[in-house]
Parts: sequence; structure tokens; C-alpha cells
Amino acid sequence: MVEHRAAARTYSPFPAYEWPEGKQSGVLLSVDVDAIAPFLWEHRDHLPDRIARLEVRRFGLRSGLARLLDLFDRYGVKASFYVPAVVAEFDPDLLPSLLSAGHEIGLHGYFHELVRDIGDAEFDAALDASLDLFVRQTGKAPIGFRSPAWEMTPHMLAEIKARGLAYDSSLMGFDHPYEIDGVVEIPVQWALDDAIFYKFEGSGNERWAPVSGSAVLEDWLAEWRTLHRFGGLFTLTVHDWISGRGQRIAVLEKLLDVITAEAGTWVATAAEIAGHHASSVNSGRFAVASAVPAAIGARRFGTRP
Ligand SMILES: [Zn+2]
Repeated sequence: MVEHRAAARTYSPFPAYEWPEGKQSGVLLSVDVDAIAPFLWEHRDHLPDRIARLEVRRFGLRSGLARLLDLFDRYGVKASFYVPAVVAEFDPDLLPSLLSAGHEIGLHGYFHELVRDIGDAEFDAALDASLDLFVRQTGKAPIGFRSPAWEMTPHMLAEIKARGLAYDSSLMGFDHPYEIDGVVEIPVQWALDDAIFYKFEGSGNERWAPVSGSAVLEDWLAEWRTLHRFGGLFTLTVHDWISGRGQRIAVLEKLLDVITAEAGTWVATAAEIAGHHASSVNSGRFAVASAVPAAIGARRFGTRP
């Protein structure tokens, strides 16, 4: 017997996101200052006696980051920088300099440990050690977390909440801020991550050549225009050692030329956006649960239980 149901809902269940001061959309410029941390994590048990990939990444703190900071200064915009604690440990001036330039700093793992490689206890210890290091170096705790490689578990969300952090920025369940398991989420987007277009460090495992800057610019501009129309959040994620290089800075200049000319878009740090979310009518309107479903298991077709 086939069950038919009358249409019970429409598929626009949420009201539109409300931005401050009558703005129509939001823009978050974020920088993941990974530097050499992912390489150290990949080779955590034995570091090879080779320096080519280290040098590719060391370019970031030597030159790339300064160019990004200069770019943000020239456009009068503030960004959110997510820094693995080990990067700050090696360069103790980094976090204080970013703060004194008016930018936000947020957590990004201790060793940029990947969620698939660690258990809950290691995540908790790395989170606490990162918080300690940030407090030691800057005198105050950061309020935001971004997971390395943007993986997340319900446990991680619970620990972020338990430590009183104001937001996470790793997930993509909406294209504007929302709440998941009670944590404010400032969403990211793969299509706005420079790594998927440009990342090439000569590891021998690269699956494609870097995409040209002009193609990336065209894509990002189209995405910004559409998100602006929809009233969403355009979260751009770049890396010190990737987008700090050559023509990629010019791509960001052309992008910021367009974005900063639009008075109806709000360019803000993730901390500011999370603060707006929590204190505005949006709070609670877009609240979801992480809700991992049961495994399909024996329900599969053509298999014996
Ligand atoms: Zn990262």
C-alpha cells in the first residue's frame, strides 16, 4: 500500500538571515596560518631529512603573511587568523603582532592534528594546550576555533561549548551563521578555499596542477555576487604560504576592489559576526543538532544480516 501525504511543509523553512545596520550580506576574510604545521603532523613520527616542502611552506611566514597583512591594511579590512599553536610556539611574535594590527586570532589545533588521526582525549588535550599557549603569549583567550581540514565530531562541539568558546568556523550546514549543538557556527565553504585551487607543494601526491588566478577570481566574484543576492556569508579562506605568493595577491586585490565598493555588504571578523549572531534575532532561528544517523548496516539490499 502506497502512502501519499499532502504537502506538509514548504522548503523554505527558515526566515532570511538578518545582518546588522540593514546590510544585505556578510564577508569574512579568514587566513589559516598553517605554515609548516601540516608537514610536521604528516611526518610526526619521523621527519625526513629533506627541506623542499618545508621551504615552500616557510615562504608563508617569511613573505606571504606580510603581503596579506599589507593587503588588508590597504583595503581597511580586518581578518580572522587561525593559527596552530605550534606555529605560534616557533614564532612567539606572531599572535601579538596580529592582535596589535587589529585582527582576530583563533585556535586551529596544536599541531594541526587531523581529526581522523586522533581520539577524543587527544583532541581535548590539544585544545587545552592551544588555549594555554594563546593566553601565555597574548594575555587573553581567543573566542573562536577552526578545525584543521574542517572535520568535526559531536564530541568536539561539546568540548568547544564546555570551554566557553563563542564560535566554531569549520562546517557548511548553512551559508550564513547558525548554531549546531548549541555552538555558534560561522560557516566556511570549500569553493572559497584557496587550497583546493592552488595548493601544490611538490609532494608527489598532487592530483592536479594549480588553477589559474584569473579563473579563481572569476569564480570567487561570481560566488560573492550570488551570496550577496541571497543574503549569505562569503567566508574566504586563504593560507599564508599559498595566497601570499605572486599573482594570487593581485587576485585578492581585484576581489576586494569589488567587495569593498558594495556598501550593502558587511566585512567583519568571525568574532564580530558571531557576536552579532548571538545578540540578534538570528539567535535560535537556525539551530540544528549534529545528529549522526545510525549505520545502514543490515538494511542494505541483497545482503544477509
Ligand atoms: Zn589548516
